[in-house]
Amino acid sequence: MNFQSFQPPRRILMGPGPSDISPEVLAALSRPVIGHLDPLFLDMMDEVKTLLQYAFQTKNEFTIALSAPGSAGMEACFVNLVEAGDKVIVCRNGVFGDRMIQNVIRIGAEAIVVDSPWGRAVETDKVEQALIDNPDAKFVAFVHAETSTGAVSDAKTLCALAQQHDCLSIVDAVTTLGGIELKVDDWGIDAIYSGSQKCLSCVPGLSPISFSDKAVNVIKNRKTQIQSWFLDQSLVMSYWSGDGKRSYHHTAPVNSLYGLHESLVHLQNEGLENSWARHKAQHQSLAKGLEKLGIKFIVPEEERLPQLNAIYIPDGADDAKVRNYLLNHYNLEIGAGLGDFAGKAWRIGLMGYTARNENVALCLTALEDALNQ
Ligand SMILES: *Cc1c(COP(=O)(O)O)cnc(C)c1O
Repeated sequence: MNFQSFQPPRRILMGPGPSDISPEVLAALSRPVIGHLDPLFLDMMDEVKTLLQYAFQTKNEFTIALSAPGSAGMEACFVNLVEAGDKVIVCRNGVFGDRMIQNVIRIGAEAIVVDSPWGRAVETDKVEQALIDNPDAKFVAFVHAETSTGAVSDAKTLCALAQQHDCLSIVDAVTTLGGIELKVDDWGIDAIYSGSQKCLSCVPGLSPISFSDKAVNVIKNRKTQIQSWFLDQSLVMSYWSGDGKRSYHHTAPVNSLYGLHESLVHLQNEGLENSWARHKAQHQSLAKGLEKLGIKFIVPEEERLPQLNAIYIPDGADDAKVRNYLLNHYNLEIGAGLGDFAGKAWRIGLMGYTARNENVALCLTALEDALNQ
């Protein structure tokens, strides 16, 4: 055997995640490893917690980064809060809503599915009807923005409906955190999870999560033990907090957390509202350019997610050939269609550090070239 070091090319990542990582975050990742219970590391974890509270716009004491990807954040919310036999209203308008249903079923709970068309926001009136029809429902779960379709839903209204009907809300904010308006406390979100590799522009593999006091109480008063040991947040809580009595739960991914800390410092320095505005502005200039190329969006304008642009593949264009051309001639990655949109759509991401003028310009030039070939 004579393997060589792996030397990946430098790509421009304009797909559904991971997004581009800034040189500062990459540099932070290569700093010396220190012990995960080293006092200096614990101080840094406390800063990550405060920075995440800012990003989520919450005062929730239980706000941490889970040592696992967004999918584990999803699972953590469900296995901690939901018990067998519970009724959960789950909104499905794309791939990730469907995964929520799978989580509920595996717990042995009952999923009341509210379907909305792919490429559209969750229909709030249908959710309200489901709440009226199921007065014993305990949770409302939905995806703030479906990365599979590029549609953003009205999280504020959905959480208000959940509250009016005495339900806790479980929200997927994997693509939205840092990219569009998201206000955990103002909107009354009870359990929320995100991912490090989308608008936070950090390496994949971390999932910021936050639970309201109400959600923490539900966990503390469970009748049954949480079936997942690793994701049992009552154990993780004493690892991340617990004033001086940090107990070993698992070895934190030390360097990934350096990276997350660095990307959250950037978010703080830019300012959350400025970051939301930047994503919107970059989306608008991309949309203008795409329209000039005759390319059509899947999602109606008022429901579009700025950081994920789902577009119809133009007639006569070969899906795989175009994406390969972009990769091989421009080092540019865009996303393929997912689920119902496989082979029909492309997904152009403008997440975090990717959302810059030069990338929008490159994407438009490269796409025009590829379509002419
Ligand atoms: C990416 C994504 C996930 C899954 O995150 P992973 O880090 O890939 O596990 C979940 N929900 C949404 C909306 C996403 O965009």
